[in-house]
Amino acid sequence: MARKPFIAGNWKMHNDRRQSRALLQGLLDSVGHLDEVDVGVAPPFTALQTAGEVLYDNRILLCAQNVHYAESGAFTGEIAPSMLREIGVDHVIIGHSERRHIFGETDETINQKVRAVLDAGLGVILCVGEQLDDRKAGRTMAVVSRQVRAGLTGVGPEAAAHITVAYEPVWAIGTGLTATPEQAQEVHADIRTLLAEVLDRAAADAIRIQYGGSVKPGNAAELLAQPDIDGALVGGASLKAESFVDIVRAALPGR
Ligand code: PEP
Repeated sequence: MARKPFIAGNWKMHNDRRQSRALLQGLLDSVGHLDEVDVGVAPPFTALQTAGEVLYDNRILLCAQNVHYAESGAFTGEIAPSMLREIGVDHVIIGHSERRHIFGETDETINQKVRAVLDAGLGVILCVGEQLDDRKAGRTMAVVSRQVRAGLTGVGPEAAAHITVAYEPVWAIGTGLTATPEQAQEVHADIRTLLAEVLDRAAADAIRIQYGGSVKPGNAAELLAQPDIDGALVGGASLKAESFVDIVRAALPGR
């Protein structure tokens, strides 16, 4: 089944509003018109509204890096799904390894966030991935399948169009180490098999599975050529228009 590639840039805690505006203008000029690839950017919260204004009526999808699962309440410092929707956010990255490992997010919290975001009518990018010790001990799929099952608990196959899974081996994030295309493909294929079990076959065929972990212009094409790699979640290389645009172009069908 042909899935439209989805390349998303996770800006993390980089880019103020002025820098965000400039970077987005560069992206709009180069890849803003593309129909064959979905392109998304996830600026920090303070730049989301500015980004939403720049991207208004354009094809580039506005993503948030985090969310709270409640709709309102006494949750100091948190942002509700409807608040993100109000300023034009399309997708929310949930369960990024930095949220899991630096900020202590659990599979249970991540699942609450996934369900809240889907209930709000937004798309989810659910991040999963093993740490280096897990891989060395042969526990990659045990960890990844626990994260996928937990993340999607209570979610039905009808939500498939709003779900993206990002496989991001923790040892490859921001390290310059990349999973080989074969290593990544093996895990992506296993995730797809698991999605068929957890949701159903049609949902598994429809859900895009991004690879993330030191994706660069030099390795993107090889990774994206794998049958179960449907896009990329890009950190460092999404901070410069030139490198992000090259990665987006590497995803163009027939390239
Ligand atoms: C990420 O943070 O999701 C990521 C993949 O980062 P990088 O591309 O810098 O490894």
